[in-house]
Amino acid sequence: MNIKGKVIICDSIDEAGIKILENSGLTVDYFPEITLDDLKSKVSEYNVIVVRSRTKITKEIIQKASNTKIIARVGVGLDNIDTEESRKYNIEVINAGEASITAVSELVIGLMLSLSRNIPIANYETKNSNWIKKNLIGTELKGKYLGIIGLGKIGRNVARLARGLRMNLIGYDIIPIDKSFVQEVSLITTDLKTLLESSDFVTCHVPFTAETKYLINKNTIAFMKNSAFIINTSRGEIIEEASLIEALKSKSIAGAALDVFEEEPPKNKELLSLSNLICTPHIGAQTKEGQELASTVIAEKIIQKMITAQNPS
Ligand code: NAD
Repeated sequence: MNIKGKVIICDSIDEAGIKILENSGLTVDYFPEITLDDLKSKVSEYNVIVVRSRTKITKEIIQKASNTKIIARVGVGLDNIDTEESRKYNIEVINAGEASITAVSELVIGLMLSLSRNIPIANYETKNSNWIKKNLIGTELKGKYLGIIGLGKIGRNVARLARGLRMNLIGYDIIPIDKSFVQEVSLITTDLKTLLESSDFVTCHVPFTAETKYLINKNTIAFMKNSAFIINTSRGEIIEEASLIEALKSKSIAGAALDVFEEEPPKNKELLSLSNLICTPHIGAQTKEGQELASTVIAEKIIQKMITAQNPS
């Protein structure tokens, strides 16, 4: 293969994808720490821009990217790319949506077990020589109702894993969920209010859009049971943090686990000091396998698109 073109990689990505790109003949410049000013000055040289989440591809960068045909996101969410501006300049934006399904869904199960069995606090107290066994009576997942908001790629995989733990599943999505999946995992489909009222655990798997911003807010949290837990591994803006803080402080819900925050890294001291909240630093996709897959999937998609562009039929 000998494809012509120049690729700039602006964030750290698994080396497997870089090798695939280099072997195809493309010239690859790897600048995982590049600043926005530096990118602005160089970007016009490149046909492909590759990012993870650190680099923001803003309107200003796109306007200077006069030779760029593809912006590739090694991951899922496109919130760090001005997709509207890219469209105006006929720049195609691609991502690797399929690569983090397993990583994110396994984290959800881990967070659910951490909440139900108090694992973070048990670890902390035991290491501090506090044997608080009698205070740590948890709950079992078996037979509990798991409400899944957003039955796309990740939501469905969470459903399959939770079924293995013998949980009952309730699902809500804005698009109809196909019958075969509903039957496969014995899913009860319903509206958001009923899901929130009926679930022991709620997990969010919707994209961040104008419609999903603060989908979980003061009014919707009020539908949840006092004994319920909520988990968010989607995007921070889906949950209104101020309302979540109030609910956790007043114990109107039992607990929460967040991998994503309205501001990352989170700085809200009130949020971070809550004992019934478990936090992880946006590690949903951070597995060796997930990163390698994202990087190779993106490399192969770029090559395919460059071949098509250079050999129009
Ligand atoms: P997906 O596009 O496959 O599925 C999203 C689902 O949400 C779709 O079925 C869609 O119909 C549904 N949806 C959209 N708007 C809705 C609404 N208003 N109400 C109910 N349902 C709605 O996406 P995915 O790959 O499953 O990813 C889900 C989320 O996970 C995204 O927000 C993504 O950014 C996030 N994510 C986070 C990490 C992480 O590191 N924590 C990693 C990967 C993905």
